[in-house]
This record gives sequence, C-alpha cells and structure tokens, in this order.
Amino acid sequence: LVTPLVMLFTSIGQLQQGRAAIGRINELADIAQEPSVILPPAMQETVVYGRPGVTFDRVRFAYGHDEPTLRGVSFTVPARGLTAIVGPSGSGKTTLLQLLMRFYPVQDGRILIDGQNIGSVPVHVLRGLIGYVQQEDTTLRGTIGDNLSYGIEHATAADVDRALHLAGLRDLVHSLPRGMHTELGEHGVGLSGGQRQRLAIARMLIRRPSLLLLDEATSNLDSDSELAMRTALRAIASECAVISVAHRMSTVVDADRIVVMDAGVVSAVGTHHELLRTSSLYQRLNDIQLRGESPFGEPSCADRVA
Ligand code: ADP
Ligand code: MG
Repeated sequence: LVTPLVMLFTSIGQLQQGRAAIGRINELADIAQEPSVILPPAMQETVVYGRPGVTFDRVRFAYGHDEPTLRGVSFTVPARGLTAIVGPSGSGKTTLLQLLMRFYPVQDGRILIDGQNIGSVPVHVLRGLIGYVQQEDTTLRGTIGDNLSYGIEHATAADVDRALHLAGLRDLVHSLPRGMHTELGEHGVGLSGGQRQRLAIARMLIRRPSLLLLDEATSNLDSDSELAMRTALRAIASECAVISVAHRMSTVVDADRIVVMDAGVVSAVGTHHELLRTSSLYQRLNDIQLRGESPFGEPSCADRVA
C-alpha cells in the first residue's frame, strides 16, 4: 500500500505544481497585455526578434467618428527588403506606419508581425523592434555624437560606426575637424536636409531595429544626397525590413515592392516597372514627380514658396 500512496502523493504534488505553473502563465499573459510592465527576459525572447515580416490583413481604421481613413488594407512585407508606400496626400500612408507602432488600435482586421498580432505584443517590445524616422525630423542640438546616442545607454563605438556607415555618413563625419564632437544647430555646422534625415536614420540603426519605418521628408534633395540616401536604404534593406513612405522617385524605383495607396485602400502592389504597366494612378504619380512636383504627400519646398 505504501508505494501507491507515495505515487498518489507525488502525483498530487505534480498536479499542484502544474496548477501553480498555469497560474503563473496566466499572470504573465496578463502582464503581457499591460504595456508599462517590463517582461522577464525569458519572455521577451519569445518575441520574434530578428525576423519580423509584417502583414496588414483587412485593416480598417477611422480617427474618432470620421469616415474611415483605412478601409480593408491588406499587404505583406517580407523580413528583408525595401517596401515603398506611395499615394496622394491624405491617402493614409502615415496612418499605416502609426498603426504598426500601435499609436492607435486598429478597429477591424489585424496587423501581424512575424505572424503575431501586434495587439498581443507588449508595446515596448514591439517598438523595440522598430526604428521610426518621422517626416521632417528635427534633431540637432548638441554634437553629432549626442544626436546619435540620444536615449541609448550602451552604444559601442563599433555600433555607432556601423550605423554611420550604413547611413552613408561615415566619410562626412570623419572629414569634420572635430568629428563626432562637431556641434550642430544654430551655432554649429549646418547639415543639409538629406544629411539630417540620414543622421536620424543612423540614430535608429544603432538600436539595431528589425524593421525601419521611414516617412521621407519631401525636401528636394541635391543629387549627392539623393544618391547617398538611395545607397543607404539599399544597404539597410539587405539587413532588415524597410518600409518607406516615399516622396522620392529614387526610393520608389529602387524598392523591391511598392504599395500604391488611394483614399484608404490599396490600389495596386508591384515593382516600378510592373506598376508603370498596370496602375494608372501610379503612372500619374510618376509623371507628376518627373515634372518636379510632389504627388506623394505634403507640398514640396518649392510649392510652399510659391
Ligand atoms: P498621408 O500620409 O497619405 O498624407 P495620413 O495618414 O496623414 O495621409 O492621413 C489620412 C487621412 O487621415 C487624412 O484625411 C487626414 O486628414 C486624416 N488624419 C490624419 N491624422 C489625423 C488625426 N490625428 N486626426 C484626425 N484625422 C487625421
Ligand atoms: Mg503623410
């Protein structure tokens, strides 16, 4: 009788341990819903680091009680490569990026990151995967070094150098007499619009994001900056997924895929050459851009002056 009793008690013990474990999992699941709580490291590792392809699946979204800004948007972005989003001003491009960052919740449909619904990924984990460079990023007080390491505790010199290299800024920084200690801003060295945006990109790259979101500035770049941005985006896109709301034809032509937005729906997806054949909206946007106007969003500098 002793042996079965021992076995019985052992089983009860295991059962209780099992119960307790399930309780802990439930607790963790609750914590995972709560964005402000830091997860234990073991749980963070379960989250997708390194290969977050993104899927928009029939996403609907309205600001407040307005007409929906996005109506059934679906497209997929692989874990590497350059995806451009184009479309007339107000078609919902910036909103797409902001939903992916969970600035707002989607109202219908879902956004998946490496197959997981972003609604169930803790916000800080999600945003840790993403580098977001906003339109007209106004950085730039203090030194170049300050700007690069802002908000990052453990950037090594190697991380910084790699980021500068990918963003096509290494030569520029090395050519400055004070290098990383160069003061920027009003009383320091002036950077061009393109250089400023690449500095903002470099700052994001130091965090090694798996996904870089870029809302391009509309400023008309000089051809050096244009080429530098083009090269930088290609280099970055070989390491992670880049989604660029594109205002520059060079970014669009180079993209592995282009999503054409029109009034809150995806009107077409393809490469530049495919879309020139298949999408009349894309042809129109392309023609306008070639004439030097700005079809993809806010007016260009030239338009503003006019
Ligand atoms: P795009 O980036 O393609 O120019 P947006 O995503 O910025 O388009 O905007 C899409 C639509 O949503 C526009 O009609 C815009 O007026 C509206 N919108 C954007 N942001 C807000 C907001 N914070 N509140 C209300 N409406 C907004
Ligand atoms: Mg926009």
